[in-house]
Amino acid sequence: MNYVFPPAAATSLPVVGTDQRFPVRRVYCVGRNYVEHAQEMGFSGREAPFFFMKPADAIVVCTSGGSNEIAYPSLTSNYHHEVELVVAIGRGGKNIAQADAAKHIFGYAIGLDMTRRDLQGEAKKQGRPWEIGKAVDQSAPMGPITPIAQSGEIRTGAIALTVNGMPAQSSDIGKLIWNVNEVIEHLSAAWELQPGDLIMTGTPEGVAAVVAGDVMTASCAGVEPITVKVV
Ligand code: MN
Repeated sequence: MNYVFPPAAATSLPVVGTDQRFPVRRVYCVGRNYVEHAQEMGFSGREAPFFFMKPADAIVVCTSGGSNEIAYPSLTSNYHHEVELVVAIGRGGKNIAQADAAKHIFGYAIGLDMTRRDLQGEAKKQGRPWEIGKAVDQSAPMGPITPIAQSGEIRTGAIALTVNGMPAQSSDIGKLIWNVNEVIEHLSAAWELQPGDLIMTGTPEGVAAVVAGDVMTASCAGVEPITVKVV
């Protein structure tokens, strides 16, 4: 192909236990998927899941046990952490029933849906799109993918985030309002899923601002943890 300039490199995540990598296509995100987080954002009840996206190149590939960094972004003074279980799709499909959803999962990882909360709040108020708050450069640090063959289906288990060693977010995957299989059913009704798609499944309560110098450690039972410094 005779490109006018070299195409951007594809984003890919390491896979635990192999030197193969998982090439990323899209990053879908679920909004307000834990009751206590919905409440802290001023909502209640079980509304149908809703989705937004981050660009694949917002991912910062993190190693477990290594030192990882993200830059504090421009235009915000309220940059929030959101720790989330990430589901990696290995087999595509449309209108996937929740009973079949697990067959489409390649594996899982830990991820952070970093958010310019002040700009997201302003966008909500004005009825504008969320990209300015959510689709931020380097706003999706993610760890390596653990294949489902290794982890089994993740339906329960602790998910947590510490900042500078202090507990910030702590919950359980079993508290997802819409569990992973239900999310896949809803999401695949709206878009045809493809291998390489990632789903950030939503964050529990305890979201808060970080500043440059803060060190976040994100963990979820069944996947490898990551530590990320804001610089
Ligand atoms: Mn989120």
